[in-house]
Amino acid sequence: MDFAFSEDQLLLQQTLRQYAKDKLAPNYHRWDRGEVISRALIKEAAELGVFGLRVPEQFGGMMADYVTCGLMAEELSRGDFNYSLYIQLGLIASELLADFAHPEVQAEWLPRHAVGEAVIAFGLTEPGAGSDAANITTRAEKIGDDYIIIGEKASITFAGYADACIVFARTGDAGARGISAFLVPLDAPGVTRQPYFAAGERLTQRGSLFFDEVRVPARNMVGEPGKGFYQAMIAFDFNRAIIALACIGAAQQSIDETIEYTKGREVFGKPLAMFEGVAFQIAEHLTLLESARVLSYKCLWLKDQGRKHTSEAAMVKWFGPKSAAEAIHACMILHGHYGYNMESPLEQRWRDVVGLEIGDGTPEIMKGIVAREAFGREYTSYR
Ligand SMILES: Cc1cc2nc3c(=O)[nH]c(=O)nc-3n(C[C@H](O)[C@H](O)[C@H](O)COP(=O)(O)OP(=O)(O)OC[C@H]3O[C@@H](n4cnc5c(N)ncnc54)[C@H](O)[C@@H]3O)c2cc1C
Repeated sequence: MDFAFSEDQLLLQQTLRQYAKDKLAPNYHRWDRGEVISRALIKEAAELGVFGLRVPEQFGGMMADYVTCGLMAEELSRGDFNYSLYIQLGLIASELLADFAHPEVQAEWLPRHAVGEAVIAFGLTEPGAGSDAANITTRAEKIGDDYIIIGEKASITFAGYADACIVFARTGDAGARGISAFLVPLDAPGVTRQPYFAAGERLTQRGSLFFDEVRVPARNMVGEPGKGFYQAMIAFDFNRAIIALACIGAAQQSIDETIEYTKGREVFGKPLAMFEGVAFQIAEHLTLLESARVLSYKCLWLKDQGRKHTSEAAMVKWFGPKSAAEAIHACMILHGHYGYNMESPLEQRWRDVVGLEIGDGTPEIMKGIVAREAFGREYTSYR
């Protein structure tokens, strides 16, 4: 057993931690106040490798191992949680396109994605289908050499400014086997966007995408007809550990800040840190965060080894964001009234992390997966 990062990973961790502190943290509040991120900053993030982590080298990416992807998400979210969303969604898009897209679609989109010129969203959820994603109603009809897509996608990260979206649409019968995936350029005629006023992660402009008879060439189907749902599930598994690590990074940063704050703040003639009621809270959250961190990296290590990791991924997807949200909440209270001000990054981090208790699958759905793996599929009330 070896729990150590490699020399290269340790160096990367150090570099990213400094970058998050110097470059990301000072801007974090700006997106929350309604500023829109510039294309120049998105491209700067791409230079760090944020988009190209799992883009094959021939298309300009780096094909990093999955543990390194997790390390990057954890470190960057210490400075700005939103940046981890570029990693999460970028990983899903690059995995799906690299593994299943038509060579022409790969050649057109993967190089642009790797350098941050094309932000690619993931469009599965609909107003009437979230947890029950196999129940989507958006449909794609084959007409000649094209598909015509009609429907609405809800709660799509980057809906406000993504350049393309991998859209899941029904091409066959009811259920998961009737769903296919399409790479849809979002400047296509018939596409409209409606960003939400979200509780957090505002840099991402999460929102709805409407497809009113949007025409795409048949080669834009990603993978085989009726396989879209299953292909997405493969990428979902490891990405759950990336999500957990992003949340853990934001929580660890909050804990580090709270340790410093409670050492400096005096009450009743002593530093706050000297009261066990304070220090033990930090000790408990550190314990829970470290447990979630180790399981997350184990999950990514399993993925790197080509081994099954469905259960571990679902475990950390509910346990990681929950532990992180609870730790940040405690840090807010331990900062007293300062922790309840918008000038403090704590409340923004808390709102951001809570979003990923829901996004990519809720705790109930994750526990359903863990239970299914433990009890067997025949004891699951939904498939
Ligand atoms: C920050 C954020 C980012 C997101 N980004 C994307 C994105 O980029 N692309 C995308 O496609 N989607 C995205 N989503 C949507 C997300 O995947 C869905 O919100 C999620 O899957 C839950 O679906 P729902 O909101 O429809 O809730 P519902 O499915 O209606 O569930 C409502 C509640 O019921 C519970 N529930 C549901 N079924 C059961 C059950 N069988 N047993 C017990 N409890 C149950 C759920 O856990 C939840 O608490 C995002 C959401 C958020 C919040």
